[in-house]
Amino acid sequence: MKLMSGSERIFANDETDPLDGKVRWCPSKSLWIGTMTFLAITLGPVFLTWSALLLFIVTSGVTLCFGHSVGMHRRLIHSSFDCPLWLEHFCVYLGTLVGMAGPHGMIRLHDFRDWAQRQSQCHDYSCHRSGLWRDAWWQLHCRLVLKHPPAFRLEPRLANDRFYTFVERTWMWQQLPWAILFFVVGGWSWLVWGIFVRVSVCVTGHWLVGHFSHRRGGQSWIIDGVAAQGYNVRLAGLISMGESWHNNHHAFPGSAKMGIFPGQIDLGWWLIRTFETIGLATNVKTPDNLPPRPGLRRLVGANNTEALVPGGHSRARS
Ligand SMILES: [Zn+2]
Ligand SMILES: [Zn+2]
Repeated sequence: MKLMSGSERIFANDETDPLDGKVRWCPSKSLWIGTMTFLAITLGPVFLTWSALLLFIVTSGVTLCFGHSVGMHRRLIHSSFDCPLWLEHFCVYLGTLVGMAGPHGMIRLHDFRDWAQRQSQCHDYSCHRSGLWRDAWWQLHCRLVLKHPPAFRLEPRLANDRFYTFVERTWMWQQLPWAILFFVVGGWSWLVWGIFVRVSVCVTGHWLVGHFSHRRGGQSWIIDGVAAQGYNVRLAGLISMGESWHNNHHAFPGSAKMGIFPGQIDLGWWLIRTFETIGLATNVKTPDNLPPRPGLRRLVGANNTEALVPGGHSRARS
């Protein structure tokens, strides 16, 4: 299967300028996350119980790991491993339950940002260059509207998949059956913590990881000639399911493994390894079997990991 990198779905023409745009309020996104966050803050403390807290932790972990990190990001967006279609559908459905976007919307968001960051210059919005509060407002409540945006074209396999089309159309409603189930089983505390608190924490957490992982943190690699570098945010390695090893992700976007150095915990990778062990994942891409990204340069001495080149491969220049 052909490995897609983000920018292969984005088509710019001569008029497209990644800097020429305005950040505009996006009502649907803003009202969705605004309402979830308001309900989480006002009702969360009132309805806190041990079982509700446990439900929040388990449902967050499952939707972020199986869903967002492995299903949406590593499989759907980057094709970093192959798996049966039913497993891909299942994981992507769980990713939709994170409450950020549907499958098509998630790919579009990721690939547009990826494309913008690969240019020689990048709008502050696309590179998370604004301060914390402004970036929070921009990323959680607004969108960047370019004067001449590039075209976005999904590959036919995903565009014509009826399951993804259905989930895309109904992604906000996908919370409803779970909301009803949680309410019936555990009452208000399960509804509040299993839906409102979970969605607002996971979506806000996703933005926070994106914010810091483009600003500061560990760096083992530099990509020459692009507007944005990624950084490893060690503090979030566990709870981001490995997604916060973002310097590694910029270096090897097609890799199923994001925590590539010892000590970089990566639960998403462990899950893919488990799939592989039981015969559900094949053709798993890692820095060992991927061609180096153009412009990739190894930082010697960074993070004291210079002696710990992943898998002993020696393609990266230093
Ligand atoms: Zn990035
Ligand atoms: Zn990515």
